[in-house]
Amino acid sequence: MKLTIGHLYPDLLNLYGDRGNIQCMKKRCEWRGIEAEVREFQITDEVDFSNLDIVLLGGGSDREQMLVCEKLKTIREDFHAYVEDGGSVIAVCGGYQLLGHYYDTSDGRIAGLSLVDLYTEQGSPRLISNIVIENEAFPYPIVGFENHGGRTFIGENQPLGKVLFGFGNNGKDGAEGVLYKNVVGTYLHGPLLPKNPHICDYLLGNALEKKYGKKELSPLDDTQELEANRYIVERFVKKQNR
Ligand code: GLN
Repeated sequence: MKLTIGHLYPDLLNLYGDRGNIQCMKKRCEWRGIEAEVREFQITDEVDFSNLDIVLLGGGSDREQMLVCEKLKTIREDFHAYVEDGGSVIAVCGGYQLLGHYYDTSDGRIAGLSLVDLYTEQGSPRLISNIVIENEAFPYPIVGFENHGGRTFIGENQPLGKVLFGFGNNGKDGAEGVLYKNVVGTYLHGPLLPKNPHICDYLLGNALEKKYGKKELSPLDDTQELEANRYIVERFVKKQNR
């Protein structure tokens, strides 16, 4: 078995260690005997979505997002078909905002991909915090760090989780991130996947199911990863409730 992971525009969208998410996916495949190939696409490269199983769109500053948004227009149709066909995507922070219709900033509107029905508006102050969220569909809380000026509104879409500590999508409605088909959008970075192996396996499982019709992932020893996850939950959520 083999999964091909596409990293879109790491030169521009690679804030806060998004490459760590790629490493995590690759390693968790390899430890299970699943081949994993990573393809990095620069802004001038053609992206053939039919050869990709997971796509990562990382974080970026407003300036970098503005530069990328012109390019995104040219891949929008293929990317949309990939998502509607059940292709897996992990989009973090700036990349998450770009999944939506637009991101309005004081310097103008950054057009998004309109792959998911959501939009973002810049606000003040920036929302900077450790963050813990939970979703009963996952066996453990999801932990990370957030740093964004944008406030994202996901309408009727399902969030990735409910905020237990931190700000989330907009600091108001208690939701964080989005789940749409096999797309995960989130403000959590730091990077996200090494501290949340259950989210990494969710992405890998979905990609394997689409490609090979089975989700089976052999168990790995996640003692250290889950210890890191638990420590963050204890530190920010449990102490707060004492
Ligand atoms: N530029 C966006 C914002 O400030 C996203 C930042 C990021 O990717 N961390 O909201």
